[in-house]
Amino acid sequence: MIDSSLKFKGQTVIVTGSSSGIGQACAIYFGGLGANVVVNYHSNKEEANETLKQIKNGGGDGIIVKADVSKEEDVLSMFEQTIKKFGRLDVMVSNAGLQVDSPFLEMTTKQWQKVIDVNLTGQFICIREAAKQFVKQAPDEYKGKAINTSRAIGKIVMMSSVHDVIPWAGHVNYAASKGGVSMMMKSVSQELAPYKIRVNSISPGAIQTAINKAVWSKQESLKELMNLIPYRRIGTAEDVAKAVAWLASDESDYVNGETLYIDGGMTLYPEFADNG
Ligand code: NAD
Repeated sequence: MIDSSLKFKGQTVIVTGSSSGIGQACAIYFGGLGANVVVNYHSNKEEANETLKQIKNGGGDGIIVKADVSKEEDVLSMFEQTIKKFGRLDVMVSNAGLQVDSPFLEMTTKQWQKVIDVNLTGQFICIREAAKQFVKQAPDEYKGKAINTSRAIGKIVMMSSVHDVIPWAGHVNYAASKGGVSMMMKSVSQELAPYKIRVNSISPGAIQTAINKAVWSKQESLKELMNLIPYRRIGTAEDVAKAVAWLASDESDYVNGETLYIDGGMTLYPEFADNG
């Protein structure tokens, strides 16, 4: 009998970019569900320490690993450290991402490339390495030796954005990267489903984190933002973390290649609510 409150007990979860925002909330949430959590950070060690502290306060376990997800050698090292410590990987949450905004006419190739490197190539490297690890460790799983209780041999949750379907002027690099994540997710899901690996993505709307502080920290722009959100509130990182955990759990075992929009209705064309 599985204790459903600890549904990730014995499972190892990597959350990239988990020193802040959505990634941090995911890492803490998985810790609370009994997982061993790999807290990946890029530059802010103190924030990563805070994530691990909160995981441990909640009774979970974890390690901190510094890695730039756009650098292959860093990601390989993160996987080495994960397997050395916990012996296996069960869930990959490829969350790390950034924005480098610019009007299109002024966007430099460097600004374009930076976002593609982190948001798209970074997710590619992370989920490829995760899938390799899932396949490598799978025989134990089939022999019933593993302590993990999951039906799939591994689960991948990719962090996309509502901007994988909503075009975004002034953020062309970001929207292109998330559109890419969406199609990468579907194609990889199609290819890996026969291995019993599930791949899905989450597309958050406006979630209150550092990435969009300029919008929610000013009363006026927050009010304007509400016009885009039928549910009339900004999202929290925990709103997203709960959905990520569901997508990585057996409760969604028959869900493959799906994008779950966590957006308070932002993708419902709110400007048409009053007859267009
Ligand atoms: P955030 O800025 O708090 O988190 C982003 C994290 O990614 C940070 O911890 C940052 O250090 C990390 N990161 C950046 N570059 C990295 C690199 N090269 N290697 C490793 N880590 C790196 O913002 P957030 O809102 O929590 O963003 C998390 C994810 O959610 C991103 O992919 C973002 O695109 C996506 N998202 C956020 C929102 C929102 O409204 N907040 C909406 C849609 C999608």
